[in-house]
Amino acid sequence: MEEDKKVALITGGSRGIGKQVALRFAKQGFNVVVNYVSDKTDIESLEKEIKAQNSDIDVLLIKSDVTSYEASEEMIKQAIEKFGKIDVLVNNAGITKDALLIRMKEEEFDKVIQVNLKGVFNVTKAVVPYMMKKKEGSIVNLSSVVGVVGNAGQCNYSASKAGIIGFTKSLAKELASRNIRVNAVAPGFIKTDMTDVLSDAVKEGINAQIPLKRMGSAEEVANVIYFLGSKESSYITGQVINIDGGMVM
Ligand code: NAP
Repeated sequence: MEEDKKVALITGGSRGIGKQVALRFAKQGFNVVVNYVSDKTDIESLEKEIKAQNSDIDVLLIKSDVTSYEASEEMIKQAIEKFGKIDVLVNNAGITKDALLIRMKEEEFDKVIQVNLKGVFNVTKAVVPYMMKKKEGSIVNLSSVVGVVGNAGQCNYSASKAGIIGFTKSLAKELASRNIRVNAVAPGFIKTDMTDVLSDAVKEGINAQIPLKRMGSAEEVANVIYFLGSKESSYITGQVINIDGGMVM
């Protein structure tokens, strides 16, 4: 078992923001555990890409659905067996199923809450006992600006992201005395598969409303997540940091 290097576990690390977070922690010398759920992921090239950041680090890829409590416990067990600890947990896995409330199906509401909010509970609950034992840790949760200001067509998604803010602040209060910090980031519109589905006209409309006049990149979000995960942010807990080009001030 390797215990010398720091270890970061990222849920939904196969694409988009989560992948950039995995690359960033690897570059900084962390061993990384990357979770994903679909069979579409090309595991070999993902592992290669992460290792290319730093040949000294080790990578563990785990296919597991964060909506399952049992599977999440099993995933954390595997990570602990390999690395002996988890220093940083990034709860990044998330989905959208957009529709106006009058057209939203019950399954669309439930699924988004299951992945985005219950998934955070499942994985965090499995990780926290190990952080408590070490009396140290940092948890970073992915909220969203729409969890703060709402968005028509996203009652399910914005409820899940607002829920994450309450979860983050409550857990930060529970774990501060154990030297475990819990923070959230609230990205605005970031270029990933999640926002690629928007039409060019919608994207133009969005850009016009952003003070910095452009969407953000996954790397720009990963930079802040790395900061919150690392010792650089050792006096910050219970906070929600907007990464949104000034959309919400
Ligand atoms: P993305 O490109 O669509 O990637 C989503 C990731 O989540 C993938 O790695 C996917 O794995 C994983 N995932 C989905 N369901 C899962 C499940 N049940 N169990 C485990 N993993 C699962 O998304 P993104 O844009 O990078 O977003 C990442 C996070 O940032 C999300 O929480 C999102 O809500 C939040 N966010 C994004 C934006 C934005 O503009 N993009 C803005 C605000 C907040 P597979 O590859 O295996 O499917």
